[in-house]
Amino acid sequence: MLRNDDRDGGPAPVGADLPAGARFIGREPGVGPGWLAGDPPADEDLSACVACGLCLPHCPTYRLTGEESASPRGRIAAMRAVADGVAVVDEPFAAFMDGCLVCRACEDVCPAHVPFGRMMEHARGQLTPHRGPLGRAIRWLGLDVVLPHPSLVRAAALLQPVARPFLPARIRHLVPRDAAPLRRLPRVTEPAGAARGVVALLSGCVQDRWFHEVNRATIRVLARDGWRVVVPRGQRCCGALAAHDGRLETARGLARSNVAAFGAVEHVVANAAGCGAHLAGYEDLIDVGLPVRDLMTFLHEEGRPPQRRRRVDPPVRVAYHDACHALRALGIHAAPRALLGEVEGIDLVDIAHGDRCCGAAGTYNVTQPELSDRLRDEKVTAIVATGADVVASANPGCTMQLVAGLRPAGFTGEVLHPVQLLDLADVTAERP
Ligand code: SF4
Ligand code: SF4
Repeated sequence: MLRNDDRDGGPAPVGADLPAGARFIGREPGVGPGWLAGDPPADEDLSACVACGLCLPHCPTYRLTGEESASPRGRIAAMRAVADGVAVVDEPFAAFMDGCLVCRACEDVCPAHVPFGRMMEHARGQLTPHRGPLGRAIRWLGLDVVLPHPSLVRAAALLQPVARPFLPARIRHLVPRDAAPLRRLPRVTEPAGAARGVVALLSGCVQDRWFHEVNRATIRVLARDGWRVVVPRGQRCCGALAAHDGRLETARGLARSNVAAFGAVEHVVANAAGCGAHLAGYEDLIDVGLPVRDLMTFLHEEGRPPQRRRRVDPPVRVAYHDACHALRALGIHAAPRALLGEVEGIDLVDIAHGDRCCGAAGTYNVTQPELSDRLRDEKVTAIVATGADVVASANPGCTMQLVAGLRPAGFTGEVLHPVQLLDLADVTAERP
């Protein structure tokens, strides 16, 4: 840092005239950072926070606990203390970091544009030595071994009926009973008429096995809208869950595979909010990006054919759920509402406090059950109060979380991806 008054022909460092022993915030001379592994949060990211606290009221974990250590500012202060060598990566530090949903609400409202999501991923990368052997083994198996390999994800879906009774109750209630272990999406789907262009679909790992019909509906809607849809075979999990857990080498490997698999396509469309947000950050991770577009934004921005009537019959009341990674990380709000709003028979309603996280947050609903349940129950109460028949949710993690909360609350409707409603609207309108 430099100050403006020139002395001896040049600016003097800020603090040069402080009394001996006094210093500005920052690392003590001769003291190194307390990080345990490579790839820690970058100093320039940490120093971007001016501790103004404007993010605090928007942070779900701070709202529930009132603890500074459960706030964005507190978590950044903890990271900075380790970076400055005045604290170490220990159990309390791990608890502060693990307690974060990585919902990025703080990032969305931060006037200093602090890249909180990126910092948290790097901070979590430091926690592995503090996890017990079982926690380490489960994370390694799930995030480094199974999810990156489509054949193992398929095997997990195939074995699910046998394994289900032995799963912990919490996971059993979250994972949908029906999976599609053996179904494959068509490599190429031609549009109904002349092609407007080519779209490559990110099929996703969990999405393609447990929400396969969402991918089918996506392809049908895009093809009806005039797009040639390709599904590159070499694609793999986007790496979002690995990155959120700080497993950045796994995430980088997956990012490189996907960049190679998608090649030079004009548009990569993602229909899962978490995957879309992660793909949008590939350039941060490996310095190479993909031309990724969120499905609903893509349909809205490119324009849908005006000649088609869109209708659902019988009419339904639909509550739209904003996934944090759509609303906060990608800034998506109007597009899905506009698309659903133009369908005859859909009465679209907003959920009170719809910008609040539902508590799913990747693996958070398994690793942090207490806070996750409180957030889920708040969301469920708000949804039930809308009187909706259907909840529209564009993220598989949120969908699982909402279903797990809505069923015990007596909700008998469905939780569908918005593109399934658009597909239904096309089909219903096409009926004689
Ligand atoms: S993260 Fe942003 S909003 Fe929050 S305290 Fe830091 S500078 Fe302020
Ligand atoms: S990412 Fe979400 S939970 Fe984490 S500090 Fe920011 S607002 Fe709070």
